Amino acid sequence: MANWTRRGFLGSLSGVAAATSVVAQQRGNLAAPEKRTGHGSIKITDLRCAIIGRNPVVRIVTDQGVSGYGQAESTKPYLKPMVLFYKDYILGEDPTDVQRVMLKIRRLGAFKPWGAAVSAIEIALWDIAGQVAGVPVYKLLGGKIRDRVRAYNGGVRFPMTGQTPQDYAENVAKMKEAKEGFTLIKQAVGFHNPAMMRAMTDGWYDEPRTGASHADRGLMTERGLKQVITCVEAMKKVLGDEIGLALDCGPGWTVKDAITFARALEPLHITWLEDLITGDYMPYPNAEVFREVKQSTSLPIHTGEEIYLRENFKDLIEKQAVDVVGPDPEDVGGLAEMKWIAEYADLHGILIAPHGIFDGLIGLAAHVHLAAALPQNYIGFEYPVGQPEWWYQIVDGLPDPIMKRGFIDVWDRPGLGVTFNVPAAKSRLRDEDRHFFD
Ligand SMILES: [Mg+2]
Repeated sequence: MANWTRRGFLGSLSGVAAATSVVAQQRGNLAAPEKRTGHGSIKITDLRCAIIGRNPVVRIVTDQGVSGYGQAESTKPYLKPMVLFYKDYILGEDPTDVQRVMLKIRRLGAFKPWGAAVSAIEIALWDIAGQVAGVPVYKLLGGKIRDRVRAYNGGVRFPMTGQTPQDYAENVAKMKEAKEGFTLIKQAVGFHNPAMMRAMTDGWYDEPRTGASHADRGLMTERGLKQVITCVEAMKKVLGDEIGLALDCGPGWTVKDAITFARALEPLHITWLEDLITGDYMPYPNAEVFREVKQSTSLPIHTGEEIYLRENFKDLIEKQAVDVVGPDPEDVGGLAEMKWIAEYADLHGILIAPHGIFDGLIGLAAHVHLAAALPQNYIGFEYPVGQPEWWYQIVDGLPDPIMKRGFIDVWDRPGLGVTFNVPAAKSRLRDEDRHFFD
């Protein structure tokens, strides 16, 4: 017994030694390629930001001649100092270890607009990682599950001719005929559309806010609520069941108005009602209040464009507070953050329709790679356009036409697969940014 034990023990020891040497060998084998191409072989040497048109554009420069680009919303031309704030945090890091770089800066952001710089940097890191690996970004996000991605009208808008139901009907008729062939259209109503609310006499029990952008809110009058509902009915009559209609509604509705509104629209099968309670630049999601609205109607309730990081979606998702989340990759912390939120939402039976109207053409490329890799709870992203129009002349690599019958074919070039036409783009740089592409 003792001998057996000793033999067994020694035998085990030799087995452990053998196993250890195999592990060491395997580690050696695993370590070998790392020495050749992994950590330490590429370093971030600069972080730059230029305001091109109105979109902040981020460029991460490396010591290997590879650069990555990211973009922030055209509503944030003031973002440059915020981007440059992070430079010292990421210099010298390996940009292909996206998570490690992000650990250094993701804590230094907040709800919209203060997560935008971090988000643009994250997207630029993926652009580099894809180029270095020789694969499109969607591969690094887990691989694509769809070859073409749906987007809804977003930046494709036509000026309103007035604020009557007929004006709204005519406006969506133009969107319906748009060359992009959208299968889903979103229109602004209620407090998300100050022109609609202010065109009414006594639409709600408060005065319009004046001065710098500040959302109106309050209890609606019977007349106000009826007017909004009538405009929605007019739009839906044009679109029928052929094209989906989503409504960007707030923020600023009272819970009871939100429920009354949603119930009135139930027969119209609206695709979603967005930001009724909070949203846009409100730095909190208010999950419990959203949940009350959600539980009171069969129409899908949507929010999340202003939210920064997955942690801040935890309540909305775990408490089943909404039916659809709509983070923006250029505000939430980037592409991996979006993927994580989409997967977690999917586990809880919640859909995702990313925000993106102002994300620009680099942002459009990021959306396409992301949407290709999102789970099957994906609906469609909000289509950004290049503004001014010359943006289409300074970015190479987008399909022509970009959209066909409401979808974009996913492309396979490494990284984001779009690049700047540098001579053309240089001519659009402001003097202070003239060395951006050097
Ligand atoms: Mg919105």
